[in-house]
Amino acid sequence: MPMEARRIEIKGVVQGVGFRPFVYRLAKKNKIKGWVLNNARGVSIHAEGESDALRMFIEELMARPPGQASIMEQRIERGDVKGFGDFRIVESEDDGEREVLIPPDAAMCPKCRREVLEEGNRRFGYAFTNCTGCGPRFTIIKGVPYDRPKTTMANFPMCPECDREYHDPLNRRFHAQPNACPECGPQLKIHDGCGRAVSGVSAPELLAGGNILAVKSLGGYHLVCDALNPVAVKRLRSGKKREAKPFAVMAKDIKTARKYCRISPEEEKILKSAQAPIVILPRIQENLPLDLAPGVKTLGVMLPYTPLHLLLFKEGMELLVMTSGNISSNPLVYRDEDAFSELRDIADYFLVHNREIYNRCDDSVVRVINNKAQIFRRARGYVPLPVEIPRQPSVLACGGDLKGTFCLTKGGRAFLSQHMGDLDNCKNFNEYVQTAQRMKEYLDIHPEAVVVDLHPGYSSRRWGLEQGMPVIQVQHHHAHLASCLADNGLCEKALGVICDGTGMGTDGHIWGMEFLLGDFAAFERLAHLEYVPMPGGERAVSEPLRMAASYLHKHFGKDYLLKASHLFFGLSRKELEVIIGQIEAGINTPLTSSCGRLFDAVSALLGVCTRVLYEGQAAIELEEIADADFNGAGYPFDLEASGGVLIISTKKMWRECIADISKGIPAGQISARFHRTVAEMIAATCRALKDRLPSKKVALSGGAMQNKLLVENVAGLLEMESFTPLVHSRVPANDGGLSLGQAVIGGRLANVRSGSGQNS
Ligand code: ZN
Ligand code: ZN
Ligand code: FE
Repeated sequence: MPMEARRIEIKGVVQGVGFRPFVYRLAKKNKIKGWVLNNARGVSIHAEGESDALRMFIEELMARPPGQASIMEQRIERGDVKGFGDFRIVESEDDGEREVLIPPDAAMCPKCRREVLEEGNRRFGYAFTNCTGCGPRFTIIKGVPYDRPKTTMANFPMCPECDREYHDPLNRRFHAQPNACPECGPQLKIHDGCGRAVSGVSAPELLAGGNILAVKSLGGYHLVCDALNPVAVKRLRSGKKREAKPFAVMAKDIKTARKYCRISPEEEKILKSAQAPIVILPRIQENLPLDLAPGVKTLGVMLPYTPLHLLLFKEGMELLVMTSGNISSNPLVYRDEDAFSELRDIADYFLVHNREIYNRCDDSVVRVINNKAQIFRRARGYVPLPVEIPRQPSVLACGGDLKGTFCLTKGGRAFLSQHMGDLDNCKNFNEYVQTAQRMKEYLDIHPEAVVVDLHPGYSSRRWGLEQGMPVIQVQHHHAHLASCLADNGLCEKALGVICDGTGMGTDGHIWGMEFLLGDFAAFERLAHLEYVPMPGGERAVSEPLRMAASYLHKHFGKDYLLKASHLFFGLSRKELEVIIGQIEAGINTPLTSSCGRLFDAVSALLGVCTRVLYEGQAAIELEEIADADFNGAGYPFDLEASGGVLIISTKKMWRECIADISKGIPAGQISARFHRTVAEMIAATCRALKDRLPSKKVALSGGAMQNKLLVENVAGLLEMESFTPLVHSRVPANDGGLSLGQAVIGGRLANVRSGSGQNS
């Protein structure tokens, strides 16, 4: 048979993931001659062989790339037969514009796990074992192209044995940049609370003894203790100055996790994935200390994702609290010196090592809702992989403030930063700024415009305005809508139902439950929840009884509210009078149509949560207590047309809700009925708007669209009316996903301005 040749160019995540050895093995198997190399654009292959062999080779190449690889573009052309005698991996080319993507960190693979547990193996018990299929990536990368000298592994010259693995194309560690062994790699150390090195103790022993350990993990420090030791858990909670927010745990393995949580096949798949995020699971109530996750029926669980974690599960340990290493609202600590100064008062011991964490990366959080995985916090394991979008000019989108992320675009790719936390905290903000600088360099991006939210108080906005670039301002909920469309790979006009906490509206009021018809270019507000005053402004967020008072005052007046003052546990009649005075005088009472505040008001009036200690707490706890067996109808409500816009009035809902509370109907039942009501409000509004919509697609976004009960109710009702609900999966529905929406809107508007026409 005659020989043929093919030139194959592959782009995507194809470096640092064992791609060339994979190509090499495949070539040998199919008797292909030629070469493979890395270049600035990705991987280049010259393949010669008989036509059937070539076909098989290319088919397998595309169908079964290594686990961590992701092929985003490929080009295959006929080439000239050169008559190569064998197949080789040749030296990398360093040319042209960088297009190679930085791989995210990947959880320990089964092969490395086996080696770490195998007595006699040279990596037995070694906490930094990794291979081309797993291990640290983004968190240790200091520069590009991704090569050992440009990582924090540069200080660890490989021993002859590791070096041999590294250079052997058939070895699993061929060009594994962080390759290491006990001979040559990073080492663990234990320090006491005063920073003195201690010997003769092991971390599992210390954990079994009820100690709290600060553990240097992959993307930052964790605070760790035995999750089944109530005293340790309580001590950790008071030390962290975090009164209510649930702690995440790490289970020894999936079997152990099942003892404490119900796990679906989908959830198991995510737990065991290379991303290995925290998965929010329904908890089995028994045996768990109350302080672990007060007020909720769920538990955030992850599995050991590095050998270091695996090694903690000895001495009978099976469930560890694994919460981010920080005090109250400060950022996750990832530098050793910060750990020793900031965590000293809370950690009894420090488990540290000498491999530097260069890029902070929090644990990601995922929840399966309506049988679909939704990402709540996007960081370790996912960042810095891009989301594909229509090609557009490069922009820098600054995101929101509460769950800070930014988004940089290049061509048809949108790169979201990892979750940076609340940017109101100056440490978070400084890291956000530093990370933006790094990502621009890593990705070689030169934005043409900056995109910001309308909220004048956002630090991200202020920073954006200082960048000396053309500024594009995007309304908060328009960005949520665009984010959901982009997440679903769409760019057409659709209705967005945005259920959210706080976002600045174009009329100067605080929006939050919005029905926006729009695309990446523009939007129209078709309907929204009625406006109510927020007595005391931000105070109405932390003290949700204020919102309850506001709703009752709006609908039934002052006298009714005062008569109902017995319903306001924890608020005296005097305080209620002050609030009424504020509302009536219009002092510090911004108007809001927020969905979050409506949830807060119901939660507070039911006595579920009257003081909000972490964002969304009142709504989360309201969802948690909802009666799972409820299947009745919701409370009544009205849709009122006003100047071409539909307004949802909650007056009738409140009347019946108050009656239920007075009758002593259990809070769980009222909560479930309230959730149903909000879902029915959404369905009824969509139905009423039907004739004005270009399609049946409805994009669901905003922080409240992480409420499982709400989303499942809304999706069910919309499907019954033959709408197609679109939910988030790759970026969060909350403000962590805002920057993606801003980026695609900004890209469209920058396109129009620069006269290069519309995207298609
Ligand atoms: Zn591995
Ligand atoms: Zn070695
Ligand atoms: Fe928002």
